[in-house]
Amino acid sequence: MNIIILGPQGSGKGTQAKYLSEELNLPRLSLGQLYREQIKKSTDLGKKAEEYVLKGELVPLKITKDLLINELNNAKYKKGLILDGFPRNMEQYKLLKKIMTVDYVILIEIPKQETIKRLSGRRICSVCGENYNVHFDNIKDMKCKCGGKLIRRKDDYPKAIKERLQTYKEETLPIVDEFTKSGKLIKINGKAPIKKVNNRILTELQKRGIN
Ligand code: AMP
Repeated sequence: MNIIILGPQGSGKGTQAKYLSEELNLPRLSLGQLYREQIKKSTDLGKKAEEYVLKGELVPLKITKDLLINELNNAKYKKGLILDGFPRNMEQYKLLKKIMTVDYVILIEIPKQETIKRLSGRRICSVCGENYNVHFDNIKDMKCKCGGKLIRRKDDYPKAIKERLQTYKEETLPIVDEFTKSGKLIKINGKAPIKKVNNRILTELQKRGIN
C-alpha cells in the first residue's frame, strides 16, 4: 500500500509520516531527508542539489527523478511506503502517475502563522536528525537526547521559509486538486498536538479499512 503525505512545511508531515510508518509497518521515504543525507555526504547528486535545498527551492525534476527512482529500487519498498515530500508540483505528479499507484493521500492542513512559528522554532540534531522545537519542547543546553548538538536548518530562516510557503501555494496546491478529484484525498486538521493529529489520521484510515 502506498500512502502519500502532503502539507505545507511545518505542518508536521515528517513527524506524522514517521509515526504512520511504525503503525502501518511500512517504510518512510522522505525526499527532503534523502537530499540532506546526500548533501552531508557530499555526493555528486548532493552537490547538484545543495544550492536549491539551502534556498528552500524545489530541486529540478531531473535530479529529483534520479534520486527517487534509485531509492525506490530498494527492496524494502516492495510492499509499499509512506511517501513524504513528493509530489510537490504538476511535473512531479505526472512522474508519480507513471511510476507508482497511490492508495491514499493525507493532506495535513495548518494556518500560515502556525507554519511560520513552527519552522522558525525548529531545530534538528546534527548527529541523528531528530526534530525538536524551541516553542514546544523542553530542550536542555541545545542538545539532543543522543547528545548531539541541535542546529537550525539553513532553510528554516525567514527568507527561505517565505520562499518555501510561496512555492507550496503556487506549485503544490494544484496537485491537491488532482488528488481530490481522484477521491484519494484525506484532509486532516494539523493544528493540534502530535499525538492527536496522529489519532485523527488513524481514525480516517480505519474508516477505510486500514489498520
Ligand atoms: P523538506 O525536508 O520536505 O522540507 O525538504 C527540504 C528541501 O528538500 C526542499 O526545500 C527542497 O529543496 C528539497 N526537496 C524535498 N522534496 C523535494 C521534491 N519533491 N522535489 C524537489 N525538491 C525537494
